[in-house]
Amino acid sequence: MRKGAPRRDPVPMTERRERPRVVIVGGGFAGIGAALKLKDADADVVLIDKHDYHTFQPLLYQLASGLLETTAVGHSIRDLLHGQDNTNVHKASVTAIDLEGHEVRCTELEPLGYDYLVLALGAEVNFFGTEGAPEHAFPMYTLPDAVRLKEHVLQRWETADKDPTLIDDGALNVVVVGGGPTGVESAGALAELYRGDFAKDYPNIPQEKARIVLVEAGPEIFVMFKPDIREYTLKALDKRTVEVVTGDSVAAVSPTRVTLKSGTTLDAHTLVWGAGLQGNRLVQSLGLELERGNRIGVGPELTVADHPEVYAVGDIAAITDSKTNHVLPQLGSVGLQSGEHAGETIAKLIAGKKTKPFRYRDKGTMATIGRGAAVVEMMGGRTMKGKMAQAAWGTVHLALLPTNEDRAKAIVDWAGAGLTHQRTGRITVSAGDD
Ligand SMILES: Cc1cc2nc3c(=O)[nH]c(=O)nc-3n(C[C@H](O)[C@H](O)[C@H](O)COP(=O)(O)OP(=O)(O)OC[C@H]3O[C@@H](n4cnc5c(N)ncnc54)[C@H](O)[C@@H]3O)c2cc1C
Repeated sequence: MRKGAPRRDPVPMTERRERPRVVIVGGGFAGIGAALKLKDADADVVLIDKHDYHTFQPLLYQLASGLLETTAVGHSIRDLLHGQDNTNVHKASVTAIDLEGHEVRCTELEPLGYDYLVLALGAEVNFFGTEGAPEHAFPMYTLPDAVRLKEHVLQRWETADKDPTLIDDGALNVVVVGGGPTGVESAGALAELYRGDFAKDYPNIPQEKARIVLVEAGPEIFVMFKPDIREYTLKALDKRTVEVVTGDSVAAVSPTRVTLKSGTTLDAHTLVWGAGLQGNRLVQSLGLELERGNRIGVGPELTVADHPEVYAVGDIAAITDSKTNHVLPQLGSVGLQSGEHAGETIAKLIAGKKTKPFRYRDKGTMATIGRGAAVVEMMGGRTMKGKMAQAAWGTVHLALLPTNEDRAKAIVDWAGAGLTHQRTGRITVSAGDD
């Protein structure tokens, strides 16, 4: 067997190549993790992403609520891979992948053959067929999503300040869908923006007329956490004036109204969607058997059935934890660790070394509800709440940030917001402005 080729299934070379080519599709936690681990591999590495930036999704709600600037949440992919001589980055959308022909097709690029492929295209919003949601809801999964939401909310307050009749029409009311971390964190952050900065920015607007309502279809929010955390979270949301509705779900959305399944209509010009994810839709065209949520099932080495040269990592993959036998959640730490494992494994195969199955190192499940209010549940079931949990959240998430520069920037922004309670990002700048 040629040194550097995958072990079981020799790859038909569609073109003559000096050394193996590794194509990584997606530059999120998983794709970047894989690329960094291939730094010293005797291979040509090509990373393709439709954006030229890596998005740090856990901080999207901080961008949407004006706490952080865009550059603290998005980082140039090229910059992250500087100094990696064997790696090329392309900004292009992947349109098709031919697993049999070992070829990736993209916009603005010639078809690209590969010896190894890392599928790291992440997940996308799932509106579950809710009427009006694709047109009118604000999802919270991408950088443009967060910027769009921030600008929409700022614009609603500016408009209502000039025309107070809009307030009674629900211009300032926000409905947040989903009682998981994305929904709870978004509702908490928006409530702090409303009751803190906006209360001072718009002294003529009566605060009680600007409602934030969190809607969860199940009987409780934060079902992934223990009861003490759920209780704490409800109190923390209540303190921030977030109204929580459980056991009801959104049936339809229009630009100014949200209709619930129970028949209740909420006057709200903003609906934030944090209710559901599914694997990137491209997976449906791969001819693979998919698992729940459109995710690709992988084996212990994170390879795809019948394709030992293809790795699926991060949110796009259904990875079974070897310790618990449960499918791992769609988390940044799972994305980063699985991507790194794929990169390391490919580098070892190329060097003719032995590889190991993937083992996830659990850092706990955590979420932030607001300033000084966070929750953590450790692997053994121990829980933390409040400031201690916020410090743990900060430590884990700082470690996930891609560079020291990003870490320094986030610390300055978080410390600044903590001391001054100011959300300096609450301005709108448009390229079309004078
Ligand atoms: C609002 C929010 C808050 C979160 N908070 C936390 C948290 O606190 N802690 C935590 O651990 N996790 C959190 N997560 C989950 C975590 O962010 C994800 O699990 C992680 O981003 C998954 O990494 P990934 O690399 O698989 O996918 P992604 O980070 O989504 O990266 C996928 C990449 O693929 C690219 N791409 C997609 N389609 C194409 C295409 N057709 N062509 C080219 N490129 C394409 C995208 O541009 C993107 O860069 C949060 C997620 C969200 C949405």
